[in-house]
Order: sequence, then structure tokens, then C-alpha cells
Amino acid sequence: MWRGAMRTSKFQVQVHAENCVGCLVCQVRCSLRFTRSFNPLESRLVVQRVDGQRIFDVSLTPECDHCGLCARDCVYGALVLGKRGES
Ligand code: SF4
Ligand code: SF4
Repeated sequence: MWRGAMRTSKFQVQVHAENCVGCLVCQVRCSLRFTRSFNPLESRLVVQRVDGQRIFDVSLTPECDHCGLCARDCVYGALVLGKRGES
């Protein structure tokens, strides 16, 4: 059973929500890591449509350990993997 975050990664996922198209690939990929199922509700990041527009808020939850899998699969540049400490 997953018991919470272990922040051991030397990387950091940077969020550029302005590039998000709401495809939810990131949530699916993250949930696959933790639950071995495709369940966005079990992912460590939140993607929410803003007021019915084609604009999305993207945020990482405190349980995210910045493994980078979601950033690797986000082809729109909304999640970018950088080194820890980079802005
Ligand atoms: S952050 Fe990237 S992968 Fe996730 S919903 Fe937005 S565009 Fe898709
Ligand atoms: S960095 Fe890893 S743990 Fe964090 S949201 Fe992305 S896939 Fe999930």
C-alpha cells in the first residue's frame, strides 16, 4: 500500500498550466505508477477546467515525489522536468 510521499528526487516538475489542453495523460500515467490502474482520481496531480473554458489549472499534490513520469508524457509542455532548485 502507498503510504505517502518520499521526496528523494533530485528533479522537480515545473508546471506551465497555460500550455495544458486537459488531455489527462499525466493523471493516468501517475495513477498507473501508484495503483497499476488508469484512475485519474488516484494521481498525485490535479487538472481542473476553469469555468467551462478551454483553460486548465494544473497543480501537484503534497504526495507528489517529483518522479517526473507525468512530465515525460506531457507532450504539450505543461509539465516540464527540471533540476531541483531551478525556477
Ligand atoms: S498537464 Fe499535460 S498531460 Fe496533463 S492534462 Fe495538461 S496537457 Fe495533458
Ligand atoms: S511527478 Fe510523479 S508522483 Fe508527481 S504527479 Fe508526476 S507522476 Fe505523479
